[in-house]
Amino acid sequence: MDDPPTSDAAARASEREAMMRRVDELLVETARETGVARLAPGVRAAMLAVPRHAFVPDDVSDRAYVDAALPIGCHRTISQPFIVALMTELAAAGPDSVVLEIGTGSGYQAAVLAELAQHVYTIEIVPELARRSAAVLAELGYANVEVCHGDGFGGWEEHAPFDVILVTAAGPEPPAPLVRQLRPGGRMVLPVGPRSQLQELLLLRKSEAGAIETERVLPVAFIPLVRESGEAGGP
Ligand code: SAH
Repeated sequence: MDDPPTSDAAARASEREAMMRRVDELLVETARETGVARLAPGVRAAMLAVPRHAFVPDDVSDRAYVDAALPIGCHRTISQPFIVALMTELAAAGPDSVVLEIGTGSGYQAAVLAELAQHVYTIEIVPELARRSAAVLAELGYANVEVCHGDGFGGWEEHAPFDVILVTAAGPEPPAPLVRQLRPGGRMVLPVGPRSQLQELLLLRKSEAGAIETERVLPVAFIPLVRESGEAGGP
């Protein structure tokens, strides 16, 4: 007879396979808009590797592998796996990439990035979430992720420039300090738009000469990027 931990791990792995089949379908369905018909093998492997159930509260962990956003406490949510996969694909992080994420939340997106990148710096404005995600990431052995509690609007100057910046909360425009902290040749993926409506997922590319090229990817619904003062970043 299998011992329970082994069979539980196997069950979770097969739930992740099913989750990724759903993500694959959604990518095909949205490919005309996003230009992404399928994930790079490394991104798909990262999504299959990260135990999403470890990042959600116990009361919703049976729904960890449903393709949906889920509550993580403090009125915050963990993003839908399809969106995490799409943003990760667009970010195109590689083994040498230094990544900045704004909006750690559960830590799940940071873990997916950590599977692919050299180092992930991630900033969360809610202290309890910053503490909890840091603990989960450490427990799972993600030694290449650093979680900071604070307002990510200003980026993380000390570790800049970043090859990839991912913002998982929506503001009215790309925060200027983040655009500055993006390395020439780098990519930033972020939702931009008004708080009360759908936002647009954007891919920003900075050329070697420093010029910014912006591509609209897909309408999305993110929670607002708030400022340390308690003010919402959006209109
Ligand atoms: N990436 C997360 C999803 C996070 S939801 C995950 O994988 O679970 C967006 C998160 O952004 C929330 O936790 C919210 O508290 C945080 N946030 C909002 N404004 C912020 C800011 N100015 N700086 C840092 N984090 C912020």
